[in-house]
Amino acid sequence: MPGAAMHYLDANATQPLRTEALQAIIAALAVTGNPSSVHQAGRAARRIMEDARDAIAARFSARPQDVVFTAGGTEADAIAIHALAPGRRLIISAIEHDAVRAAAGEPLILPVGADGVADLPALETLLGDGTPSLVCLMLANNETGVIQPVEQAAAICRRHAALLHVDAVQGGGRLDVSLPALGAHSLAISSHKLGGPAGVGALLLAPDAPFAAPLTGGGGQERGRRGGTQPVALIAGFAAAVAASQSDDRAGMARLRDIVEQAALAAGAVVCGDPGNRLPNTTCLGLPGVRADAQVIALDLEQIAVSAGAACSSGKVAQSHVLRAMGLGDLAGQAIRVSLPWNVSRQDVEAFAVAYPRMAARLRSPLVPHAA
Ligand code: PLP
Repeated sequence: MPGAAMHYLDANATQPLRTEALQAIIAALAVTGNPSSVHQAGRAARRIMEDARDAIAARFSARPQDVVFTAGGTEADAIAIHALAPGRRLIISAIEHDAVRAAAGEPLILPVGADGVADLPALETLLGDGTPSLVCLMLANNETGVIQPVEQAAAICRRHAALLHVDAVQGGGRLDVSLPALGAHSLAISSHKLGGPAGVGALLLAPDAPFAAPLTGGGGQERGRRGGTQPVALIAGFAAAVAASQSDDRAGMARLRDIVEQAALAAGAVVCGDPGNRLPNTTCLGLPGVRADAQVIALDLEQIAVSAGAACSSGKVAQSHVLRAMGLGDLAGQAIRVSLPWNVSRQDVEAFAVAYPRMAARLRSPLVPHAA
């Protein structure tokens, strides 16, 4: 957690732990037992885990037996691709997270438009040759927050007998998501993006999804789909966070995001991605001529935590592959992501609204040698 004076606006990297999640973790940590053990202690642990599985399944309208607990979003994506891809060509959108990109090897790339939305006619064309395929299209992008047309993509995939995996690590739990309504074959979600603990997530499978082989066999846990003793306390915290996220005030969040955006626009920023079609907590702000890492450091000195491009790539000064795919040119190295956490306050965004113009004016000054 950031220090008391810090304004934490980097929720898409990770969210503060919710009280409900902390309490569930502490309660579950007091229970000794391996959920695979048949004795009473094991059964007690198993009960906590299965209650969590039921709650998470219900939230996404999946069947409990189709919920595979994983070590987070990265592993859920990797398991999905490993299990669904055999015998199929891979097609991934140009804006997928590295978790998907790394697992996909050398896929065909589905382009996106300048608005950051996947090009569905291009998907239709790619699938038109009849080659059995697995398509990966995320629900909402981690850098721009732009929501993808997953339902329409699923309809196209099903028409061409292709499979669709959806990385819902950012969108799941922040939007109303139903696996059957989306029509996808699998969905990856991650606890820490919802205010649960890091290190746990889930792969949700549609009843008709094939599952060729687990990535880790081990002791055959999770119905043979993910070996390894389940972290019961983390899973309990995950379910508590999923439940609590249902009461988040999304409209209020979008209003606070507007305060952030208006301040940045007035200081010369441009919003990257379709502004009418985004997660309510996310904005991606390009500041022409000013390197993203310099902006992040300057805002950090003002007690504002944001990130440059994907959190997982912070530390690298490479341009964002997402913004490059949108054809934003130099702006791909000059954009920061502001993502409001579930507990954001008006003071947090007002602090940003004061700090951003100051940062922009200082870094744009010709006396400061920072331009990209
Ligand atoms: N997918 C997306 C879209 C993400 O934003 C992230 C994390 O930033 C991941 C996957 C990886 O999730 P985890 O950190 O739970 O492994």
